[in-house]
Amino acid sequence: MTKPDTDHPRDFQSLPLQQPLLKNLQDLGYERLTEIQAAALPAIVAGKDVIGQAKTGSGKTVAFGLGVLHKLQAERFRVQALVLCPTRELADQVARELRKLARAIHNIKILTLCGGMPFGPQIGSLKHGAHIVVGTPGRIEDHLRKGNLDLGDVQTLVLDEADRMLDMGFQAVLDQIVAQLPPQRQTLLFSATYPKTIDALATRVLRDPVKVEVTTAHTESTIEQNFYRVENNEQRPAALHQLLASNDVSAAVVFCNTKKETDEAARALKSAGFAALALHGDMEQKDRDRTLALFANGSAAILVATDVAARGLDIEELPMVVNYHLSRDPEVHVHRVGRTGRAGQKGVALTLVSKKEIYKLERLEELMQQPITLQEIPPLPRGFAPARPLMSTLQIDGGKKQKVRAGDIVGALTGEGGIDGAQIGKIQLFDFSTFVAVERTVAKKALNKLASGKIKGRKFRARIVGV
Ligand code: ADP
Ligand code: MG
Repeated sequence: MTKPDTDHPRDFQSLPLQQPLLKNLQDLGYERLTEIQAAALPAIVAGKDVIGQAKTGSGKTVAFGLGVLHKLQAERFRVQALVLCPTRELADQVARELRKLARAIHNIKILTLCGGMPFGPQIGSLKHGAHIVVGTPGRIEDHLRKGNLDLGDVQTLVLDEADRMLDMGFQAVLDQIVAQLPPQRQTLLFSATYPKTIDALATRVLRDPVKVEVTTAHTESTIEQNFYRVENNEQRPAALHQLLASNDVSAAVVFCNTKKETDEAARALKSAGFAALALHGDMEQKDRDRTLALFANGSAAILVATDVAARGLDIEELPMVVNYHLSRDPEVHVHRVGRTGRAGQKGVALTLVSKKEIYKLERLEELMQQPITLQEIPPLPRGFAPARPLMSTLQIDGGKKQKVRAGDIVGALTGEGGIDGAQIGKIQLFDFSTFVAVERTVAKKALNKLASGKIKGRKFRARIVGV
């Protein structure tokens, strides 16, 4: 993989694009390339596979849109490009932008195929044919399975907002779709974040990709470590409360050495009004799955966990970790702290240390090669009340074994009388149950929509399992 160099083109007219496309960009008032466009377009136009990582609003649609249109053969009325998006709203946005870009070329047909919309008209449109199909994975796969859609002539595959698609549980469906595409194709993958799961997807689906990454801030991660003095163990619950209150972050993991401490710390936080959950090895697997799902999808703000239990947690952005006790093993400490400050984000690591633990601190100083000073615990800020988490979780009593798929659930939640696709967060499928994050404010509405409708022609029981 290569990183972008610095002498990128800065204006569209210097790109080797077809004249009508360039003229249209001028008419649209697009002059200067955005950073991601400058970094990605040369490789895209050259026909290479590209992984593009950049924030929302950075102009990714124009980047892949120009790549798709540049090589499109208007006179060949076959589906030549497939663009997959996580939700209908995003697919509609992409289709709108593509139509603007395609105005320069005569008679380019762009068709959207999304879940939550009736099947019949889509089948009708497919009979009329299209050059470009934009859609959500579940519905595209449905059409493929039913033989309505032939992707044998696709030259460009675009995975837009790939991280969101994986968050929503579309991984298996994506693989099924990709299996039906010609191996000789260009694949463009765009994502705002780059967790391990995206890397795995990219390895399966892309060939020798050029990776371009545009991060506005510094890419070096910075972790701020602070150590706080506590007199004894009895003081820890209150100290934890004070620390979390004065470092008001959206999410934090509190590391404990034992199961007993985990329960103690979680209880203290809950009674102080925090959306906290305990996680330890003695819990049943299904309870652990639920706890991890609630934390990872933003329905719980604080996870209090032992080291072993926290291994199951795979999240890219964690603003803070707290060590309830300093670990006996300095390597473990470093590992815990490394959970925060990933992906170029700023992270905070706070550690409670009692007199009895000074010997551990000395070992850590040795490993870190720097002296550590202990600070006093900050007092509780006046009038502080913990914020409610943004998301809430619906647990559905149906999962992979019932052939429930993320797309089915998105379909069941959106549409007539339902919620907006943008209000749906992570969808995690297990064998017999599924956890769906939705914005807290629409959780009841989402539950009612599920209760009144069907998933895969069946009724499934569901409930809200927020904290
Ligand atoms: P992303 O997919 O990265 O979130 P979009 O592709 O939706 O971002 O682009 C965000 C907005 O920026 C859109 O309204 C688009 O029309 C506009 N835009 C994209 N590229 C340019 C450009 N080079 N100059 C001016 N506006 C642009
Ligand atoms: Mg986009």
